[in-house]
Amino acid sequence: MADKKSNDAAKDAAERALKAAAAKKSAEKKKVEHTYTHVGQESVTTEDLLAATKKNALPYRIFAFILWILAIGFEVLAILLFTLKLQFSFTMENPGWTISWIVCLVLDLICVVVGSLLWKKGNHLDPGSKKNKVGFWLRNNLGVVMTAIAFLPFIIIALTDKKASKQSKIIAVAAAVVALIIGTLFGIDWNPLSQEEMLENAHIDTVYWTASGTVYHAYDDCGHLSNTKELFDGTSATAIENGKTRMCKTCEARAAKEAELPVTTDDKPLETTAETTE
Ligand SMILES: [Zn+2]
Repeated sequence: MADKKSNDAAKDAAERALKAAAAKKSAEKKKVEHTYTHVGQESVTTEDLLAATKKNALPYRIFAFILWILAIGFEVLAILLFTLKLQFSFTMENPGWTISWIVCLVLDLICVVVGSLLWKKGNHLDPGSKKNKVGFWLRNNLGVVMTAIAFLPFIIIALTDKKASKQSKIIAVAAAVVALIIGTLFGIDWNPLSQEEMLENAHIDTVYWTASGTVYHAYDDCGHLSNTKELFDGTSATAIENGKTRMCKTCEARAAKEAELPVTTDDKPLETTAETTE
């Protein structure tokens, strides 16, 4: 009996070793040989870094505002059409009337959403400080405010309009409310970045990034890089200057694990409870 058991155990061990070897082989096969391009000088001051991120974000912010202004323009047009202040060949009985302001609301929504996406991209390139909580929220979610400006006046005017039929009002308000909800969902930054978070990792000597990515990696054998041949390397400050403002989550977790950092930091003492009670 004992012999059989040890035999089985040996068999199991051999099988496991074979499986591990196969896994290792396939992992090696997957690995891509990287080519490296070194970018940037070695040291950058925080001021220079923040000036660079501001410059990166500026075009996105300008285009966001242009689109938001266009959105409000389409809203005004929708209001003028709905209230018949602006009339083409169609009348209230004419289906063209309904189509005209619905088309304006759709264009309004497209402009608001694209504006919000550009605005959020700008914030990811040049994040705001977390010190002022209200300012930080407003900066990240300005798209929500713009969505409200782009649809609430239309909703109020449509509700209080005296000429339009009840049915038309219901269609107008329903369409604008749906647009308001969609615009709000796109306006919220669900994964905001703060300047403090960005600067926290801005002093690493060597990190890696790809041309198209939005993050930098602490390890060039990170799984997210296994399909990319061409890598750029440099300091994390250079990566940030190149628009890669966050560290990859996988690399961050790995770095924390390798440094064996405890989850809680020094300013949150946990081990004192036993001592203080005595
Ligand atoms: Zn990574």
